[in-house]
Amino acid sequence: MSYDVEKPDEQWRVELTPAEYAVLRQAATEPAFTGEYTDTKTKGVYSCRACGAELFTSNTKFESHCGWPSFYDPKDSDAVELIEDRSHGMVRTEVRCARCGSHLGHVFEGEGYPTPTDQRYCINSISLRLMPDEG
Ligand SMILES: [Zn+2]
Repeated sequence: MSYDVEKPDEQWRVELTPAEYAVLRQAATEPAFTGEYTDTKTKGVYSCRACGAELFTSNTKFESHCGWPSFYDPKDSDAVELIEDRSHGMVRTEVRCARCGSHLGHVFEGEGYPTPTDQRYCINSISLRLMPDEG
């Protein structure tokens, strides 16, 4: 798999904080209910904190009460890449930024949330940067 934005590991380490690097480049998960965007309702676009690609919008953000920002759909279907993740003894679907391959979180399906897709993109706040709408 190759990405439009590819950088050597040392470069990512310089550009990202240690906490950002651990999640974005090493697929760590920030602790629940600690991320800065968990309960954010500000209107705007959420971009990849590693490369700036636009990934999600506030329009599809919903209150899942799971402890992480949750969206029922990406901004564009090709903005994210979905990969089967068999780590930690579970089969999950990892969500990555399609432009730089950075880890964003996981997507879950069929949980019964009252959203149009019945999907929950469970995304680490630290993987995102909110750009609020003007005005
Ligand atoms: Zn990215």
